Amino acid sequence: MDSRTLYIRRLPQLRRALLRWYDDNQRDLPWRGTRDPYSIWVSEIMLQQTRVAAVLPRYGKFLRRFPSVEKLASARLSSVLAEWSGLGYYRRARNLHAAARVITRELAGSFPTHSDQWRKLPGIGRYTASAIASIAFNEPIAVLDGNVERVLRRLLHRSTAADSWNAAQQLLDRERPGDFNQAIMELGATICVPGEPSCARCPIRTFCGTRGRGQSQSRKARQIKASISIALATKGGSVLLVQRGVRESLMSGMWELPILNHSISNEEVLFRVRHSITVTDYVVSVIARSEVNTESGRWISRRKVHKLPLTGLTKKILRKANLIK
Ligand code: SF4
Repeated sequence: MDSRTLYIRRLPQLRRALLRWYDDNQRDLPWRGTRDPYSIWVSEIMLQQTRVAAVLPRYGKFLRRFPSVEKLASARLSSVLAEWSGLGYYRRARNLHAAARVITRELAGSFPTHSDQWRKLPGIGRYTASAIASIAFNEPIAVLDGNVERVLRRLLHRSTAADSWNAAQQLLDRERPGDFNQAIMELGATICVPGEPSCARCPIRTFCGTRGRGQSQSRKARQIKASISIALATKGGSVLLVQRGVRESLMSGMWELPILNHSISNEEVLFRVRHSITVTDYVVSVIARSEVNTESGRWISRRKVHKLPLTGLTKKILRKANLIK
């Protein structure tokens, strides 16, 4: 009998142990304990490629600003992008807005109840559709993200992630699919973590094929380091900003301070900030200017700047310069 057969045979006990642990130990997160598809959908989109700690201060604020799918659909895209500013991966906000319009205009404001239907909406892939449908509508469909995949690999003592969707589906508790999906993700986020898992605290260790043996290599993505200079040009209560082109792959249509392409001396630096965008860690030197030679620049009144969809870096600099709150 191999470890996989053993594990499959004891599935009901494994499911019970995991769900009991989740009921007692889950983190108190604002998107937990609700079946409201709108707030679950927003949380799932915000959490894509973004840490829980970064989402926490933004989630409630976003829902207060756009408390329903109708409010989101009727908002201007620029307002949605402005509220998203700093969270990065702005395509998510564009798709969220586009999907809200599909739901209100083509589905009469009714949310899809099945994962297949969710997948037809902009920005919804297999994982997100399964997460929303299982949590909000109890559809017995498994999720597979990096955390679940790692838990499965260790639990089943597999070296590859081949057929992981199928394995996740077999493992799923069909009575409480949404809770079970969240439980296994929670286990991967808090106990069966990358590097050294905390097997001594694991609620399913007696079912586990590896208990973390040989799984300690951290696969942290390598960050690139880079330096850039940015002009902070102010004149008569206005700030010079440029809008990124709509064809830009990153942060298209958002407003930012002009980037300086020539070398600068240390004496010119007003202050420096650190900022990470995807895989690059930037040291940003901010240079005071009264003018910048840029074709697409516009002088924007300080009173109106905060209403624009600003990039996260621009917000950071303007805050540090006390030009916005
Ligand atoms: S026993 Fe260890 S390796 Fe196995 S699932 Fe639990 S935390 Fe992960």
